[in-house]
Amino acid sequence: MLNIIIFGPPGSGKGTQSARIVEKYKLKHLSTGDLFREEMENNTPLGREVRKYIDTGHLVPDEIALRELYNRASKHMDSPGFIFDGFPRTIVQAEALDSMLEERGIPICLVISVEVAEEELFKRIMGRGEDSGRSDDNEKIVRRRLQVYKEQTMPLISYYKEQGKFVAINGMAPVDQVFAKICHAIDTYRESQKVIPVVE
Ligand code: ADP
Repeated sequence: MLNIIIFGPPGSGKGTQSARIVEKYKLKHLSTGDLFREEMENNTPLGREVRKYIDTGHLVPDEIALRELYNRASKHMDSPGFIFDGFPRTIVQAEALDSMLEERGIPICLVISVEVAEEELFKRIMGRGEDSGRSDDNEKIVRRRLQVYKEQTMPLISYYKEQGKFVAINGMAPVDQVFAKICHAIDTYRESQKVIPVVE
């Protein structure tokens, strides 16, 4: 299985790039943010529960994020791989994901980090706020989301660097160029995994 985490702050373009990766590599897209927004739109009990965190720019508690991610992932175990988007967001989530995948013998292959300068992130999210319709795309909340990212999610960078899985991509470039670099990272990984035939 090709399991990839697309990593980066809010506004880095993870969603856009995930859609392209899914199309090219036929992976199953697992986005906890999309999942929660769907629940909020349908006004389910889970949607009502997570709204208070999302609309204030905080993270949904780990146990909820983990439970929902597992439920969704377990329905698609037959897919050629997963792209995790917006998950994991804390060390607790990363450790839990690692044990879940290792138990099944399908570990994370690559963590692709889309890197964008903070002021650009802010501009992009505020720009999309008008048409995204997202209740968490307003100035005060966006600042908090970026702060939460720094405090709770950035520690994952060293976590995955230590595992040798971390690849940084410049996310300030045009969408096509960012995608080309991501494909290069994925293809290089796949090449490196090929068993070299023994020549006798
Ligand atoms: P963005 O990357 O723009 O912040 P997401 O769609 O990934 O957007 O997430 C939106 C919100 O959903 C987050 O601010 C957070 O409140 C919640 N959320 C999404 N994924 C997780 C997660 N793995 N753990 C906790 N909260 C999450």
